[in-house]
Amino acid sequence: MDTILVVNAGSSSLKFEIFATDGGLRKLAKGQMEGIGTAPQLRVKGAGGEILVDQNHSPGDVPDLPAAMRLVGAWLREKHEGRLVAVGHRVVHGGAEYERPVLIDDKVIRDLEKLVPLAPLHQENNLAPIRAVIERRPDLPQVACFDTSFHRGHSVVADHYAIPEHFFAEGVRRYGFHGLSYEYIAGRLREVAPDIAGGRVIVAHLGSGASLCALSNGRSVETTFGFTALDGIPMGTRCGQIDPGVLLYLLQQRGMAPREVQDLLYKESGLKGLSGMSNDVRALLASDSPQASLALEHFVYRIGLSAGALTAALGGLDAFVFTAGIGENSPDIRARIAATLSWLGAEVDVEKNAEQALLISTPASKVRLYVVPTDEELMIARHTLGLIGG
Ligand code: AMP
Repeated sequence: MDTILVVNAGSSSLKFEIFATDGGLRKLAKGQMEGIGTAPQLRVKGAGGEILVDQNHSPGDVPDLPAAMRLVGAWLREKHEGRLVAVGHRVVHGGAEYERPVLIDDKVIRDLEKLVPLAPLHQENNLAPIRAVIERRPDLPQVACFDTSFHRGHSVVADHYAIPEHFFAEGVRRYGFHGLSYEYIAGRLREVAPDIAGGRVIVAHLGSGASLCALSNGRSVETTFGFTALDGIPMGTRCGQIDPGVLLYLLQQRGMAPREVQDLLYKESGLKGLSGMSNDVRALLASDSPQASLALEHFVYRIGLSAGALTAALGGLDAFVFTAGIGENSPDIRARIAATLSWLGAEVDVEKNAEQALLISTPASKVRLYVVPTDEELMIARHTLGLIGG
């Protein structure tokens, strides 16, 4: 049996999935190494959700991502039947150049290294496991799948900031992220709602990171993320759209160091910053604190505003799709967001929404509302298989 390993590396975690490639892609296992460098823990589940591994490691054994990758590789060699034929990686930034996934070679690595300044918190983490695999298995094909690629068809007008033009050439432009999720949803809509897939659709990827994407005939034409994954709607711990004057105030009047501002905007803002308690929507919904309510109301309000802007970009709206942790699991937040679309004639079906049905709008609704679970790892596995000629 031939298999593909899909890797999604974050700052302190390494998520992975293993797919069999014979007879179409079949998920065999899903795992993650969390607490890298602090309290490393490897957990792997089989296709049926059964626990295959639950191991704690010492921080000295797993100090960084390459060590985590080596440990996952060792586990694979020891416990996993099958022949690994390729590794597919989620890479946050493909810059303006990479419009589609690519087989990794030395030139690709050099290009992706140049993009580190554009995504300092993510790109290095994505490159580390790629290098770790090259060290051990230089022969093994590896594929980079970018979060930016799906948005590369945006108009040049949409991709600009109104600052002197030479910055655009330098790479200061709107890229957009969550592209693998949106690409998966666009494909899934063709299967589950073919009559709507060719229309004007907004997809709301609402997880710990969150953004909206405007799809016209299945292609991204606008999105809420821009130069970095800080822009757009508020997130678990990230601020979303903010007046750049606030940054000047923090730097000049408050005397904060750039690094402190970065930590504030990436790690201490969003739902966590506003509520003062948690970045988890479940905790905020369960709380009776006024700050928790304010955080959720602001989240919903900003999504409604952005949906209005994306509707303008599309020239109207046929459907709105909820996906990712919050979008797939919270009927309450979905209903509140649907209410911000009532001016467009959107009407949620309370029972269908509570049941997490695929279609959660009423028959009379002028905008169809869907819940479609996303699967970025499967998207990466498909691209990887495609590029190695499967
Ligand atoms: P993701 O990044 O897609 O895994 O989404 C993670 C986020 O989804 C968590 O931080 C929670 O806020 C949210 N989430 C997961 N389950 C629920 C739920 N049942 N109700 C509300 N929010 C949820």
